[in-house]
Amino acid sequence: MIQKPKGTRDILPSEIYKWQYIEDKVKRVFENAGMKEIRVPVFENTELFSRGVGETTDVVQKEMYTFEDKGGRSITLRPEGTAGVVRSYIENGMASLATPLKLWYEMAMYRYENVQKGRLREFRQIGTEVIGTQSYLADVEVIYLGMQIFKVLNIPNISLNINSIGCPKCRAKYQDALRDFIRPNLDKYCDTCKTRFEKNPMRILDCKEEKCKEMNQGAPQILDYLCDECSDHFENVKKLLKELEIDYKIDSGIVRGLDYYTKTVFEFVSEDDGLTVLGGGRYDGLVKEIGGQDTPAVGFAMGVERLLEIFNKYNPDLIKDKTIDIYIANIGESANICATKLVNDLRKNDVFAEKDICERSLKAQFKYADKQGAKFVITIGDDEVKNNEAKMKNMVTGEEFDIKLTVEDIMNNM
Ligand code: ATP
Ligand code: MG
Repeated sequence: MIQKPKGTRDILPSEIYKWQYIEDKVKRVFENAGMKEIRVPVFENTELFSRGVGETTDVVQKEMYTFEDKGGRSITLRPEGTAGVVRSYIENGMASLATPLKLWYEMAMYRYENVQKGRLREFRQIGTEVIGTQSYLADVEVIYLGMQIFKVLNIPNISLNINSIGCPKCRAKYQDALRDFIRPNLDKYCDTCKTRFEKNPMRILDCKEEKCKEMNQGAPQILDYLCDECSDHFENVKKLLKELEIDYKIDSGIVRGLDYYTKTVFEFVSEDDGLTVLGGGRYDGLVKEIGGQDTPAVGFAMGVERLLEIFNKYNPDLIKDKTIDIYIANIGESANICATKLVNDLRKNDVFAEKDICERSLKAQFKYADKQGAKFVITIGDDEVKNNEAKMKNMVTGEEFDIKLTVEDIMNNM
């Protein structure tokens, strides 16, 4: 048997309604904040991600699905959403639209990862990008929206960790200090860390190897090196979060997996399993980096599989799959025609209606209706059609009553 590739999942009909529930709630949170949905290609030119995500990131160094297409172009399956959205922003001249531009998306992402709990090779992210404002107010708006998503999904025990990673100006000084700290042990760090030492030593702080983590203890902290502008920005973010009574912790270890972040970075972590569900931050350098005007922006992305897992834990019975409103069981040729017309008309009236399409016996039809949890069953034979009257049964109470075989009468009795 041919099996699905490692790190992918089927989302089955038996669970899709949970996805739809989450998507519906999240969509409303975004739309009420003035965000418009955007969808960008599953594959892009590889250069977009190597430039946009950053040469020294895990994503670019180890995780990209890159291949040459038949025309000899280097193509990569999108590993994250921001680079593609920003490319689209530039390419479609969205800079001329009202500022700030507020976008959201839900898209599948592809990363060649070590498959384990919470780590897939195809996964979905819901994210937002607010482009065109450098104000700390935008950082707080985006953080607040993240919080609201957990709230509307009834998910508790999520903690917010924030940090500032400064701008290229203050980061240069910090990186010198960090290199001085790492240098004496450099030969003991893993190979990946070694490749990052010159270009982007902050990435070394994000290394997941135990021995590197240990040597990183006591490293200088970026917060001590922020320039006045970055420091004011961070103070303003923290002050407004406090005013809004949003609890947060400062975690100087958050450097985020992607290179383009500046100033505020944040993560929402599930206290239950310690997994990061949502990660985001400000990325003032990205639009220019991939060929647009110098434009500040801030956003986040959340892993939907991880979100769904905690959602299930706290909401085991909150939602149920939809069940049939009306099943029309029928026997005989004229009854079949009548039932077919009726279900089609009921569906036009937004009623979930079904009838047999397997040419099965009445008994088998009842069994199917029962198994599918039908709320009402109408049974018709050729006599019922002739008299334009039939019995409709409430499957919950067992009650039976007479109805006319018209959409109006059926709907009035539902
Ligand atoms: P990590 O350091 O854990 O690898 P990251 O920095 O690569 O995280 P982001 O790129 O910021 O993560 O992704 C944002 C969110 O997307 C994560 O918090 C997580 O919920 C989800 N996510 C990232 N990678 C995966 C994956 N391989 N499988 C499932 N979800 C993922
Ligand atoms: Mg990662």
